[in-house]
Amino acid sequence: MCPTSPRKRSSRQTAKSTTAGAKSKRKVEDTESESEPEVKPKKRKTATAGKKKEEDMGPLAARTAVSSLKKAMYIGAHVSSAGGVHNSLQNATNIGANAFALFLKSQRKWTNPPLAADVRRQYLDLATKHSYDSAKHVLPHGSYLVNLAQADDAKAEQAYASFVDDLGRCDQLGIRLYNFHPGNSGGADKKEACARIAKMLNRAHGETDKVVAVLENMAGAGNVLGARFEELRDIIDGVEDKTRVGVCIDTCHAFAAGYDLRTPEAFAKTMKEFDEVVGLKYLMAFHLNDSKAPLASNRDLHANIGTGYLGLRAFHTLMNDDTFAGMPMVLETPIDRKGPDGKSFEDKQVWADEIKLLESLIGMDPEGEEFKAAEERLWEQGKGERERVGDQVQRREAKTKAKADKGKGKGKVAKPKAKAPAAKGRAKKKVKDETDDDDDSDYE
Ligand SMILES: [Zn+2]
Repeated sequence: MCPTSPRKRSSRQTAKSTTAGAKSKRKVEDTESESEPEVKPKKRKTATAGKKKEEDMGPLAARTAVSSLKKAMYIGAHVSSAGGVHNSLQNATNIGANAFALFLKSQRKWTNPPLAADVRRQYLDLATKHSYDSAKHVLPHGSYLVNLAQADDAKAEQAYASFVDDLGRCDQLGIRLYNFHPGNSGGADKKEACARIAKMLNRAHGETDKVVAVLENMAGAGNVLGARFEELRDIIDGVEDKTRVGVCIDTCHAFAAGYDLRTPEAFAKTMKEFDEVVGLKYLMAFHLNDSKAPLASNRDLHANIGTGYLGLRAFHTLMNDDTFAGMPMVLETPIDRKGPDGKSFEDKQVWADEIKLLESLIGMDPEGEEFKAAEERLWEQGKGERERVGDQVQRREAKTKAKADKGKGKGKVAKPKAKAPAAKGRAKKKVKDETDDDDDSDYE
């Protein structure tokens, strides 16, 4: 019932290569290609056929009335906008989502036709019909091509044009929050790179109306900006209109960057650090993903909720914190499954079920049997992937360490730990996987 979708790693690689060290990544991904089954499907060969099937699909779960929940948690997923942004609303409804993310245009192309008047009208009509508040619970995701930290003038202009075009689309659709990856320094000074991003945001704010630029925290070290809260702060510091900048915390990215969320105590500590460094008032959204890779591994590998190294307890803590009520919370978890014919397909039931699971955590006793049973079941389900990726991370760290030791002539390069971001950034450059799992969903 869901469209079959071939893998799309190669196209994403190409896109990413423009913003990140192509050589080292290429190398990393080659070694991983056979062992990373969670990679997203390739661009649909038959986008229309795929879309049609999806529309015919009908609801996989009914939406929960947020007013019936003990806390106002708006949970959804990054849904497809293939065939036009208006289609995202039906796709979100189908999985019972009360919030959602989408791409506003093809994220593989630099230039796209402007938002058509009839598509805009249909979007606005359907948002009303399905009662989605676009200003609060729709969180588009920026293009992976765009790197606002770009130092090269011509490339920076190209990135800016695509970025500001997206912000303009948000204004046209009544969308207020726009999530994007801060960028990549390309090896240049990080402070200067953050300042370049801020400058671009100031310029974009001047050319658009209301939309808020929401920076996503990242998993990677190396040249990727936004893995440390300090970098998000540095960007925000340079933004003139502070009412138009915010942060989206991706739980997988945070954990992979070394911010623990597993226990209520660790979660509180991370949020305290966020508040002290960035400021809670800037927190506007979440990407809800478990992590296939261990703490501080800098690997961006999204796992299904409760099956990764974060575990279900992290999400229980999140779901029961009033601080986060009202924010859009978006799943970017893997939904590729093998059908009986051995072919891989996107099983959107996974998101429908995860939304219900997360909603069920609100008010659930974490010491009670219901929670313990769910926690154990999911933990067991993810065991194989955790072990596989955990081993991989360990092997790479050992390899990197050996290489670094050799390079230094005389050993003693400390194994990178979460608390040493600078050293880690250098040492792990080669092993880092800059592939982001964010684009789990398809698009035109
Ligand atoms: Zn994300």
